[in-house]
Amino acid sequence: MCPRALREALAHFEQKGELAKVKVILPVHLYGTPTNMSEIMLIANEYNIPVVEDAAESLGATINKKHTGTFGSFGVYSFNGNKIITTSGGGALISDNEEQIKLARKLATQARDDAPHYQHSMVGYNYRMSNICAGIGRGQMEVLSNRVDQRRANFERYQNIFKKIGWEVSYQIERAGVYSNRWLSAFYFDPEIFGEKFREDLRLFLDELNIESRPLWKPMHLQPVYEHCIYFGGDNNAERIFNYGLCLPSGSNLREDEWVRIEAGILAFSNKMS
Ligand SMILES: *Cc1c(COP(=O)(O)O)cnc(C)c1O
Repeated sequence: MCPRALREALAHFEQKGELAKVKVILPVHLYGTPTNMSEIMLIANEYNIPVVEDAAESLGATINKKHTGTFGSFGVYSFNGNKIITTSGGGALISDNEEQIKLARKLATQARDDAPHYQHSMVGYNYRMSNICAGIGRGQMEVLSNRVDQRRANFERYQNIFKKIGWEVSYQIERAGVYSNRWLSAFYFDPEIFGEKFREDLRLFLDELNIESRPLWKPMHLQPVYEHCIYFGGDNNAERIFNYGLCLPSGSNLREDEWVRIEAGILAFSNKMS
């Protein structure tokens, strides 16, 4: 979330007298690299709007040693199968507001009243994690720092490969005090340096070698379901990153022979292009 676009959005609703419609600010720590929380919190506090951090991808990442997910009123982590640690499915909501967490826990367990029989004064949900998944999660928490090290090593390895072949790819830069978990090794192939078709050509080239890579997330304002919504962020960064960004293989368990294959693939593409 760009703090400038956030300001623009809030000013827009303020001007229309619709600020009360804005219930929450929801920044996302994309690909495991913390977003600019100090600026976002400053704006949120100015407008007195609660912040819910989507830290689904960034468990283990920190800003000045403080974990992502702990800056806003709430933080959300995902333990889905593709995340840095997993319980196969599910996640966690965190907050330092005990009352609200109690309420969330109640809503997640069908909003049962405190009675020996099943009684409900509110409509709840069946969102709780099973004890089996929770058991897996507790074990996974113990290897989190290990996983972060592995993912960070992946990212560094790609950077070294790019340095070797002279590719200038800068994206997901760690600003001062920021520590990314490098959940995905995501890179931006600036069309002004690499040309318009480079990213897609690289993706297809690797695909031929049975090496899967993917474009970055499609921005929300380009999702068909949100086509009718207003979009703030006139510089179209998200769209550009979607068009020219690529996620390279990023598993914590990449084997050495797989790395050899990936590196050879990237080198072969580089040779083909030069
Ligand atoms: C994975 C993910 C989610 C969804 O998490 P689930 O546990 O799969 O529901 C939400 N936001 C981001 C940014 C994610 O990467």
